Amino acid sequence: MLQERKFYLPKSTDPLEVTKRGLEILNDPRLNKGTAFTFEERKALGLSGLLPPFRANMEEQVQRIMENYRHHTNPLDKYIFLTAIADRNVTLFYRVLMDNLLEMTPIMYTPTVGHACQQFGHIYRKNRGMYLNLNQKGRIAQVLDNWPADEIDIIVISDGSRILGLGDLGANGMGIPIGKLVLYVAGAGLHPDRTLPILLDVGTDNDELLNDPLYLGITRRRIHGDEFYEIADEFVKAATARWPNVLIQWEDFTNDKAFPLLNRYRDDVLCFNDDIQGTGSVALAGLLAAMRMREEHLSDQRIVFCGAGSAAVGIADMICAGIADEHSMTVEEARKLVWMCDSKGLVTTTRKGKLDKHKIPYARDEKPAPELLDVVKRVKPTIIIGASGHPHTFTEEVVKQMHKHCKQPVIFALSNPTSKAECTAEEAYTWTGGNAIFASGSPFPAVRLEGRIFVPGQGNNMFIFPGVGLGAVVCGARKVTDEMFFTAAKTLAHMVTEEELEAGTIYPDLAKIRQISLAIAAAVARLAWEQGLAQYAEPKDIRQYVRDRMYHPDYRPYVAA
Ligand code: NAD
Repeated sequence: MLQERKFYLPKSTDPLEVTKRGLEILNDPRLNKGTAFTFEERKALGLSGLLPPFRANMEEQVQRIMENYRHHTNPLDKYIFLTAIADRNVTLFYRVLMDNLLEMTPIMYTPTVGHACQQFGHIYRKNRGMYLNLNQKGRIAQVLDNWPADEIDIIVISDGSRILGLGDLGANGMGIPIGKLVLYVAGAGLHPDRTLPILLDVGTDNDELLNDPLYLGITRRRIHGDEFYEIADEFVKAATARWPNVLIQWEDFTNDKAFPLLNRYRDDVLCFNDDIQGTGSVALAGLLAAMRMREEHLSDQRIVFCGAGSAAVGIADMICAGIADEHSMTVEEARKLVWMCDSKGLVTTTRKGKLDKHKIPYARDEKPAPELLDVVKRVKPTIIIGASGHPHTFTEEVVKQMHKHCKQPVIFALSNPTSKAECTAEEAYTWTGGNAIFASGSPFPAVRLEGRIFVPGQGNNMFIFPGVGLGAVVCGARKVTDEMFFTAAKTLAHMVTEEELEAGTIYPDLAKIRQISLAIAAAVARLAWEQGLAQYAEPKDIRQYVRDRMYHPDYRPYVAA
């Protein structure tokens, strides 16, 4: 049994011995407390005269920040403003974010982070995370040695090839690993000093960026095939050699790389892909809650997908694994409940040309159907899930056709951003006379219809990945399994209250994210211990053990070393 690494969280009252002095401290965002340094600390650490005389507490600092934050009306300006706080004072940044999580998540992550990525070379202020690029091939280990922290729990890495719904943004994609790790810290309490965002720059095929004089990536076209996997292998080897228990999260890779990368490493390396597994898990959680609402079982449903990319296949895989687990069916039998459509219509075995590998398990042995409406007429689905990135595909005709055969149709319009959703919440409720069970990828406001208020759920991956990541890290898991995501989905579905179900909502309130992440992390770690996948000794009280390892943004007292 491995010794748990010298972790973790000192209590907020434990003094920290500081070797730096004066401006060195104020210029280190991990140490800086700004005006909150006590007078004793100022004396002991050479800070006297370097700060205004008033000693603020953190609440007052937050108040000052919020006053300034609210002066900004443009979301991108808000993003730049918040990022600048992280550059000055990490603890305060997380306190501000956690105190205002619902308001600031759309700034630090989707949708604003998408604009930030598009503008990355133009708004760049300060280094954060690491850039690995093709020209460093053969010496990636040396480059990783430049990172100062010897303890890293989690790396989020992207090659910037498929950033949200925005396509190839090359090195500008760095905003995504940064943003995702911010959510890990705020949502689940991973320690900010032990997270590392990485951009693997293997070129870009985005001509606009290649011609932009302020673009910050390497200016060449992308590499593919063996050349790509050679550098990916080199990264994995170097990262796991330097940080043996690190969790690697693959993020926003195009499908041709996302599935192969996951399959290449998932059995030997602690890693997962949130676009595939996290999306699958959060969608399954929504469906399980919908089944609670309808008092039915998933094994009795007919499920049509609009879209057959990483999100759709990730969701379908998770659903089928879930059905197989609960209803003593094989996964192959469960797949018979799924009909998948892509841009060419129903995915069938008879389709001309080569089917993408990830679609093959879902190809149906039946007549082609080029239009979604034809599929809906034929299948009479009880659940329809949109993950096509193509807006307005759930037309009035499609939804009404579905409602003809299903009293409470489950309609998930998951494409992001809001403008890409397959239908709006209002359309889904209106076209079904308020009977739809609706969830979306991007948030929709509540809908008032015939005197009732419907609160649409948001299938936000943030419900799942922070908790799964935390759970895997705290027990020293050897790998992340689909079963862990399945457990996470069940845990999330159980956290939806009866009142929320009554209001038509199938996800809990995102404001409870810390409780949710704690519950998911404990469930994931428990599973890892049960299955012999955890390397650290099992504690008596897993929940308390996890709770004790969650970071909170509090200032510790400092003493001079
Ligand atoms: P992708 O590019 O891998 O897949 C898109 C799929 O949609 C492809 O199979 C394509 O053939 C198909 N498609 C395109 N136009 C279509 C049309 N008109 N009709 C039917 N199918 C069509 O993309 P992805 O990573 O799978 O993401 C798809 C969407 O899902 C994106 O908008 C993304 O934002 C969203 N998403 C949502 C969540 C969430 O809600 N939690 C998570 C991940 C992805």
